[in-house]
Amino acid sequence: MASVPARAADIPSLDRLLNAAPMRPALQQYGHTQVVGALRAHLDTLRQAALTGELAAGSIAAEAITRQVRKALDAAARPRLRAVFNLTGTVLHTNLGRALLPDDAVAAVVQALTTPANLEFDLDNGGRGDRDDLVEDLLRELTGAQAATVVNNNAAAVLLMLSSLADRREVVVSRGELVEIGGAFRIPDVMKRAGARLVEVGTTNRTHPADYESAIGPRTAMLMKVHCSNYAVTGFTSSVDVAHVADIAHRAGLPMTVDLGSGTLLDLSRWGLPREDTVRATLSAGADLVTFSGDKLLGGPQAGLIVGRADLIRRIKKNPLKRALRVGKLTLAALEPVLALYRAPELLAERLTTLRLLTRPAAQMREQAERMLPALQQALGAGYKAVAAPMFSQIGSGALPVDQLPSYGYAIRHAGPGRPGRALEKLEAALRALPRPVIGRIGDKALWLDLRCLEARDESAFLAQLQAPLA
Ligand SMILES: *Cc1c(COP(=O)(O)O)cnc(C)c1O
Repeated sequence: MASVPARAADIPSLDRLLNAAPMRPALQQYGHTQVVGALRAHLDTLRQAALTGELAAGSIAAEAITRQVRKALDAAARPRLRAVFNLTGTVLHTNLGRALLPDDAVAAVVQALTTPANLEFDLDNGGRGDRDDLVEDLLRELTGAQAATVVNNNAAAVLLMLSSLADRREVVVSRGELVEIGGAFRIPDVMKRAGARLVEVGTTNRTHPADYESAIGPRTAMLMKVHCSNYAVTGFTSSVDVAHVADIAHRAGLPMTVDLGSGTLLDLSRWGLPREDTVRATLSAGADLVTFSGDKLLGGPQAGLIVGRADLIRRIKKNPLKRALRVGKLTLAALEPVLALYRAPELLAERLTTLRLLTRPAAQMREQAERMLPALQQALGAGYKAVAAPMFSQIGSGALPVDQLPSYGYAIRHAGPGRPGRALEKLEAALRALPRPVIGRIGDKALWLDLRCLEARDESAFLAQLQAPLA
């Protein structure tokens, strides 16, 4: 039944609405300024609707207006950075924030946020301290390096290292290692911005010791190796290992540096994960400096670590860019307890969130998938069919770029009429629109939800969202 349209003159005044009882909770929560702003905007849309004769009488009741204003205020107040469920199967997902901090690190961050701390204050002599000192001893202990410094991320570490040691000089890198990471970080571009000149040697698939040797000249600053984080060169290949490149560099009186990317502190093969060269092994093979990320396999906060020879670290710390790239107290607060966990390797898989997720046995996810299947199927309704299915998780963030870890989760397929592709996109969007968005991946005519990163503590929140129909 169409109602009689209301007129602009019937719309209650802003003052009346503002002072009426139903608006009181909104005023308490959001304050006068925000409520007036939202109210004014809503009254404007009502007046516009009245002009075109589209204003329904019901929409100008004080309760209806208050409800709409409240909705607008709630929507505007919702944080843009929100918790999601990472069911993509990629544990260190760059777009979803990479490593999750263990509880000890979270507690340390909260303390640093709310309490003064000795960030740059030497408690032994009362003088000024150096923020790097907070983690340098731990980094030395865990890597065997002489010295260490910390910046905002590994891209900053590479930039600072090159700017400090190779300004207006040449850096020799194999053509097989000219990595691009996530579009914005390309070794050749970083090199240029750091003021260094890139000298490429070898070919994409093969580089030999003689290629490095013949590239060295009077303007050479260093030889550098870069971890092939997100790709693999296979087939007819040949590269020169760290020890050999370091030897060539040292014979020419030059430093040799390695951008390890992920940079693990322990050999992960003891947990059945792919073998990666550790920072310690890279240094003892002869690298003079190693750079790596804090929030990849290390499992800590976003940070870039530079470890190695004390004289080179000293030069790096004198570069004015260090001040621009330094980390804040939150990063250092989180980094110290994460590094400290590595002192107890036998407890690491339990305590370090990243490693705990990477080492979850498939049987555990399988049990979880089967247990939650009825609730999921109920929420999906008749239009979709979910099955518990084996799948492979990825480590992510530049550990080996191939599917590696046997996992378990759901494959959801379209069960009704219509185009399956469209139906899956609709479901994927519905999952993304949940209060705590669920992020999966579409492939092979199915939507895949990998349960590896859904730990017990998050399970009830996940199930609670499945109370209502999904799509
Ligand atoms: C990931 C990565 C980087 C960039 O590290 P961020 O911490 O993301 O800045 C640089 N080099 C390599 C080889 C990487 O894998």
